[in-house]
Amino acid sequence: MADCIFCQIGSGKIPAEVVFQDETVMVFKDIHPKAPVHVLIIPKKHISSAADVTKEELPIFAHMLEAANIAAKKEDIPSAYKLVINTGASAGQVVMHLHMHLLGGKKITSIV
Ligand code: 5GP
Ligand code: ZN
Repeated sequence: MADCIFCQIGSGKIPAEVVFQDETVMVFKDIHPKAPVHVLIIPKKHISSAADVTKEELPIFAHMLEAANIAAKKEDIPSAYKLVINTGASAGQVVMHLHMHLLGGKKITSIV
């Protein structure tokens, strides 16, 4: 999608600090980190939110988890992290392109 910021990051049109990528996913550092390690995992294909993932797209979703684990190892937090997927504006989703937040590097507390 031409006007989607994460599509543009995923295709390299807008720069980001890339931690890992392959043909399906990209992991890059959040521009406003909320923890010592805060990266975003996105599919390169535009999917609006977790609520819009189809059965056919589930392998992409699984691959996002694999990429999260690769990034967690690279960032030296292989077994202690929090994954967050805000889904829908009222749940805090601001960028309407599916993304997982990978947070770690300190003790992280939250509502769950
Ligand atoms: P959301 O609230 O939609 O779950 O999270 C969107 C996240 O994307 C926020 O944490 C925000 O800091 C990050 N973000 C928004 N625009 C950009 C950008 O242009 N580059 C990077 N690296 N992160 C961004
Ligand atoms: Zn997009």
